[in-house]
Amino acid sequence: MIITFLGGVGTVTGSMYLVHTNRTNILLECGLFQGKRQESYDRNKHFDFDTRQIDAVVLSHAHIDHSGNLPNLVAQGCTAPIYTTHATRDLCASMLPDSGRIQESDVAYANKKRARKGEPPVAPLYTEDDALYALQRIVGIGYNHSLEIARDVHITFFDAGHILGSAMVLIESKERGRPVRLLFSGDLGQPGLSIVRDPTPMPPSDYLMIESTYGDREHPEVNDGRELLAGAINHVIKRDGRIIIPAFAVGRTQEIVYTLHEMHYKGQIPDIPIYVDSPLAMNVTEVFRQHPECYDRETRLLLEAVESSDPLGFRRLKYVRNVEESKALNTAPNPMIIISASGMAEAGRVQHHLKHAITNPNNIVLITGWQAPNTLGRRIAEREPVVRIFGEEFPLRADVRIAYGYSAHADRQNLLDWAGPQSTANQATFVVHGDPQPAQALANGLRELGYRRVEVPTRGEVVKL
Ligand SMILES: [Zn+2]
Repeated sequence: MIITFLGGVGTVTGSMYLVHTNRTNILLECGLFQGKRQESYDRNKHFDFDTRQIDAVVLSHAHIDHSGNLPNLVAQGCTAPIYTTHATRDLCASMLPDSGRIQESDVAYANKKRARKGEPPVAPLYTEDDALYALQRIVGIGYNHSLEIARDVHITFFDAGHILGSAMVLIESKERGRPVRLLFSGDLGQPGLSIVRDPTPMPPSDYLMIESTYGDREHPEVNDGRELLAGAINHVIKRDGRIIIPAFAVGRTQEIVYTLHEMHYKGQIPDIPIYVDSPLAMNVTEVFRQHPECYDRETRLLLEAVESSDPLGFRRLKYVRNVEESKALNTAPNPMIIISASGMAEAGRVQHHLKHAITNPNNIVLITGWQAPNTLGRRIAEREPVVRIFGEEFPLRADVRIAYGYSAHADRQNLLDWAGPQSTANQATFVVHGDPQPAQALANGLRELGYRRVEVPTRGEVVKL
């Protein structure tokens, strides 16, 4: 078996690994690299291998940093089937065309500028049509089902508990009659997350590729988020304000909605209008509704308890379908909750809502996830007295509350707990999907557990097993 680490090493973005075993080329993940504009474009546009030589593509989950370059891969001649879970397939059906539209509009904007300078136009990385075409290649398979994708090469997906449909991937093959098992953790979830199950205990394997996003950190309890939400809701009801929650369209939005529904059902919060203002979040929420096979026991019990015509309370939501409805919210009566993309408030409709809400001390901005440096979300989270939105300055007078318990990723202790039981059987481990410091920290933790050979590969590195 030969593994080539093409992306998602030394960083959390652009996951891509090539696994060669038993004369079969498997592309594990085909994520979009996200960084500085030109570097990202070049890296995403050019693959470091012959796309026509790929025999199978295997995808762990729908997040764009794992799936987002599939349309480009297929457009560049890859005809291999793309294996993933059913729920991931359906999430991709919304997310990849959406990503194509973003690529097209990004380029349209850049080309306007180029035209003014007399420069020739550039092509988008891929288009919505490319994404729709790539979807035709996706083959959905269930969890815990071993599928032979080439002679003596099997793959099995196990629930990774990260987002709906997320999976860890076991690749089993025979090389000259000798069995070889490689386990890829995918993105591992945090136990106790809403809706999705806890990660499956680590299946036995010979080799391991493990993510390390939070390899050096531990999360506060998930419950913090719940109390924070309840506190924020009581606050805005008393003061006739509104809560703005910037959230990623996939995962976080549905989790917050589920938590609100659960708290309302248990009588912990009064009824309050919830607006979801993100067309992608709307479609994705529908996919969540259609995949009860991915729910944890708690979610199933809640479903049985509430009327069956309103699964997960998703129909209680008020969806904002167009820009006019979105603008109308500015003058709609309080209290209310608006959940809107993007999660770091860098783009999308949430910026309009923030612009109208942050100057009023009766309102709350609820931050539910990590905010990258230099984003509007980070500036608000750090309570800068004045923030810039659409080139204008606004005093930040709204209350800012931060719920960090919401991470969809396992933390350091979760990762070590998951990997612990298999430490002695393992022959080699590769720590991926993490910045250098958390990756090294996790590698050390694994060594302390008894893992013998633990490496933190660099981009382009090739290992023969
Ligand atoms: Zn992910």
